Amino acid sequence: MSEEKPNPFTQSAEQMRALGYKVVDQLIEHQLNIRNQAVVPPFPDTGKRQGVNLPEIPLQGRGADEALKIATHQVFANTMELTHPRFFAYVPGPAIFESAIADALAAGHNVFAGTSLHNEGAYHVEKDTIDWLCRLADYPESAGGLFTSGGSMATLTALYTAKSSHSDLDIANACVYVSSETHSCVERALSIIGFNTELIRTIRVSSTRTMRVDDLNQAIEQDLKAGMQPFCIVGTAGTTNTGAIDPLSSLADIAEQYGLWFHVDAAFGGPAMLSRDSRSLFAGIERANSLALDAHKWLFQAYECGICLLKDAQLLQQAYRRVPAYMRDPDAELPNYRDMGPQVTRAFKAFKLWFSLQIYGEEAFRKAVQSGIDLARYAQSQIEKKPDWEVTSNASVGIVSFRFTGADLSLEQLNSVNARIVRSMTNSGFAFLSSTELDGVYVIRLCPLHPDLQRSDIDETLATLARIATEDL
Ligand SMILES: *Cc1c(COP(=O)(O)O)cnc(C)c1O
Repeated sequence: MSEEKPNPFTQSAEQMRALGYKVVDQLIEHQLNIRNQAVVPPFPDTGKRQGVNLPEIPLQGRGADEALKIATHQVFANTMELTHPRFFAYVPGPAIFESAIADALAAGHNVFAGTSLHNEGAYHVEKDTIDWLCRLADYPESAGGLFTSGGSMATLTALYTAKSSHSDLDIANACVYVSSETHSCVERALSIIGFNTELIRTIRVSSTRTMRVDDLNQAIEQDLKAGMQPFCIVGTAGTTNTGAIDPLSSLADIAEQYGLWFHVDAAFGGPAMLSRDSRSLFAGIERANSLALDAHKWLFQAYECGICLLKDAQLLQQAYRRVPAYMRDPDAELPNYRDMGPQVTRAFKAFKLWFSLQIYGEEAFRKAVQSGIDLARYAQSQIEKKPDWEVTSNASVGIVSFRFTGADLSLEQLNSVNARIVRSMTNSGFAFLSSTELDGVYVIRLCPLHPDLQRSDIDETLATLARIATEDL
């Protein structure tokens, strides 16, 4: 009788269940208790910080209980709580519980989302979710796209497609037009795919922090006269700085007039298309050749979850499809997502958004996004009532910026007072706000996207800021 070789990774069914249930319990506890947690661990120099102390990777395993304990107390106790309702910094990641469970399911089945052959379930989930997003953007039937790891990869995927679709591109002379508020991932993507980043034309913004259309026109004319090759305009639908939305229709007109590719970065703001009262701000987005979106920001999904959409989906295959001998699927009737982007092996990132939409329905997402827009407006109205504070950019979609202006201080002093306010607030653990600079002025940014955020959270946060401000003076 031959002896069976033991599997080094075997656990009993009871042990697997025990681990699984513990993890589920922990995730539920985390969600229910999140308001009692500090939003972020304090800055290192406060003395309140424990520090991370991980044991070495062992030769013989410690077992699941011990490993989970270490992960809980050392790793997860030392992370930002991006799903905390009062995480207002940068762009929060208010992921819902179901997106984490969906990731566990997708990982547990280890779905390979690169191919459709023998794998039609994954294909249709991704296709249906992409179609839903295309409808949101009023894209035509020809449109399509794919899930990516995030907005940066969506941008890279789109801009490489743009480059590939332009057969007589003279890349050494190609000019790309962005604004001074464009996200840095655009410059990075252009650099990766071989553009001369010296030829990125940074167009000034107006007082609403949106691209100046006249300046854009002038820059293109100038480049044409100089014998350069204007290639692409990048608009932003919801800047990371202030949530500003470029005049997309005017940018589309100019792109059309000069025959340029028009890309819109909607990674942060795109979901605000779900808001019935904000949808008109996005007019013209349906004319963009390509769009970048992030579901791990304002569509409440766990990292990573980005989306690249193309008005003409065929262009993706033209840019990316390669068929080596070892991947000649017989009779693949449906397209393969591995032919539409730079990855072959792909995680099943579409599943969590699809699953969340199936569970709650589109209307729940509309309400949750509207809540973020309303709370940014509410915060603005409350700040405007306070004599020592000023709003520095209006609540556009989901972001308001402001600063303390009390006391008779110079700009430099006010900048450092506001920086101290942000730092003290962070160390308090009550709320986490970040900052930015608008025309040399240090301002505080509030990005209230969490679906469970209440007006009372905004009130208490503003009250705490006011208290810190006067204590700090
Ligand atoms: C967050 C963001 C990006 C980058 O997306 P990642 O998912 O972080 O890669 C690009 N553009 C805008 C406007 C963003 O807010």
